[in-house]
Amino acid sequence: MTMAAIETKQRLGLLGGTFNPIHLGHVQAARIVKSRCRLNRILFIPSFIPPHKEGRDVTSALHRFHMVQLGVTDEPGFEASTLEIDAQGTSYSIHTLDRIKESQPEAEVFFILGIDAFLEIATWKDYNKVLDRCSFIVISRPGYSLEEARTVLGGRLRDRMVTLREGEDPGAAPSLGAGPAIFLLEIDALDIASSEIRSCLQTGTSIAGMVAEPVREYIKEHGLYMTKQETLPSEIQLCVEAAENKKAEDILVIDLQGISSFTDYFVIMNGNSNKQNQAIFEGVDKELKQNNTRPLSVEGKQHAEWILMDYGNFVVHIFSPTARAYYALEKLWGDGIKHSFPQDSR
Ligand code: ATP
Ligand code: MG
Repeated sequence: MTMAAIETKQRLGLLGGTFNPIHLGHVQAARIVKSRCRLNRILFIPSFIPPHKEGRDVTSALHRFHMVQLGVTDEPGFEASTLEIDAQGTSYSIHTLDRIKESQPEAEVFFILGIDAFLEIATWKDYNKVLDRCSFIVISRPGYSLEEARTVLGGRLRDRMVTLREGEDPGAAPSLGAGPAIFLLEIDALDIASSEIRSCLQTGTSIAGMVAEPVREYIKEHGLYMTKQETLPSEIQLCVEAAENKKAEDILVIDLQGISSFTDYFVIMNGNSNKQNQAIFEGVDKELKQNNTRPLSVEGKQHAEWILMDYGNFVVHIFSPTARAYYALEKLWGDGIKHSFPQDSR
């Protein structure tokens, strides 16, 4: 390869994560890595279903992606990527890397991750292949020692590890023979974690200074991470009210964000007769139409033993007591956070 070719090779950093939500710790770390390692671009890649967090309460991929977009605007060279979200299913780094290599064969790829994530690499699918595909940049994080990286996999990777000191360029590192380098980069990381942000929001503590302002506004606007009834989206609150007015029984809202890929909420209820089911349907339909919210599709309205109204981000099920017991949706979706109405019947 000629010198000119080396110089023009784009350096591309990949930063994967749940980003639930993206915070200033991510952005600050990426900024430092970009400048220290002279990367041209960094892709922030939110996972679709994080393999280690399956079944746990993870906010929908789309919300997480939008927040990543908001969190990296105004940051030159930073981009939010839908790669893993588009791929659907469980997100594995090996697949992501293969796709990047296919779409950008000319780029020199660096896989960026925090030491906490690197310490778990033995649990990754095909981790040996992942480590052979590109160079890694392992960054420090408060509460962890970067040097611990050398003990990963019983020290098997130690020969490939290079501590990147001030002013050193990863491109100039000597070839190690055993495979691409794993750079250890000590940074001034911020002591912020998404889990901490989620618990602040649940207890009503301010998250100002932990996330970018537009991200904070987005969280507030969509009532993310707050599980109290008043934070359910307004259309769902209207739907519940309309159903209550028609004497629907045992109304249950199940929050499926991150659990189901086809909708964010189920609103389940039952009437005592098919006639009442129809009346509930009409009440909900009317109330939401007044709010300019129309169902994408309605099923079962004729027979009315079971009526389904699909609004996209939420689905309303109006059941007869028998149909409700038969479909047992609340059991099927037992992992979702539940809100029962009327509130005093909880
Ligand atoms: P959670 O608390 O939910 O695990 P998190 O803050 O660790 O969230 P992730 O989305 O899991 O965020 O992290 C994505 C990547 O960014 C990981 O490689 C992680 O190590 C790294 N990272 C996260 N926060 C920081 C931080 N404050 N400083 C440096 N790296 C970080
Ligand atoms: Mg994490």
